[in-house]
Amino acid sequence: MPEIPDLEGYRAYFNKRLPGLRVESAETPIAWMVRAGREEFQERMQGQVFQPVRRIAKLLLFPFERGDFLVVHAMLAGRYQYVEPGHKRRTMTAWALSLSNGMELRYFDERRMGRTYLVREDEFAEKVPRWTEMGPDVMSPGLTENEFLERVRASRSQIKTVITNERIVAGIGNAYADEVLWEARLNPLRKRTDIPEEGLRELFRSIRRVMEWATPIVAQQMEEKGLPTKMYRDHLRVHARSDAACPRDGHRISAITSGGRETNFCRECQL
Ligand SMILES: [Zn+2]
Repeated sequence: MPEIPDLEGYRAYFNKRLPGLRVESAETPIAWMVRAGREEFQERMQGQVFQPVRRIAKLLLFPFERGDFLVVHAMLAGRYQYVEPGHKRRTMTAWALSLSNGMELRYFDERRMGRTYLVREDEFAEKVPRWTEMGPDVMSPGLTENEFLERVRASRSQIKTVITNERIVAGIGNAYADEVLWEARLNPLRKRTDIPEEGLRELFRSIRRVMEWATPIVAQQMEEKGLPTKMYRDHLRVHARSDAACPRDGHRISAITSGGRETNFCRECQL
């Protein structure tokens, strides 16, 4: 699933290319994945001019001059292509926009779980699911350490469950939750209630550090190797590294699976 560094990578990539470009025509080969009718999408997208792309939690927002937004929740497998029109189109392409510079922006999704919404700014609450229940984006400058503390204290669950609950703080997914907990030296299975205040404060700082460290790495790979079909994750230190050595102490990385999600951590340095 694309997480904050991946989405920030896309944002940087698109912001070098899209602002000012006009949509010449729009198609929705898999129309039900776009929450606007096929005709409405085609008609309403035509002539739209891109403004700088934004990210909120796991959503990528494409704002346009007329005040419309394409809001994309890529879920597990939603991906983008920015290619010349002759480039073979993937079967699971949900939408494609022909742009005024001759390029095409496409969104495809092998799992068909992602959704795209075409909305105006005052329609987010009504049309984007879970928008109103969502907690603050974990990277939002407005989210202070004290507010973070207050929000995580609303849950008594295991700490990984707490920080991946978007009602508490939004944007952290399975992979980067493992990275953040490694950075903070916290065992993911530990109950929030067993972690002292200083540990939770360190967790907040670790979240910011990990995202700020990973984002330029991902962004650089997108520029060098292109937009990914599989997220760039070679830089991760514990997630999907079971049986590898912990970079901190050489201890073997553990793996546990629950609900189809793998959690990786080091039993030596994460307490
Ligand atoms: Zn370790």
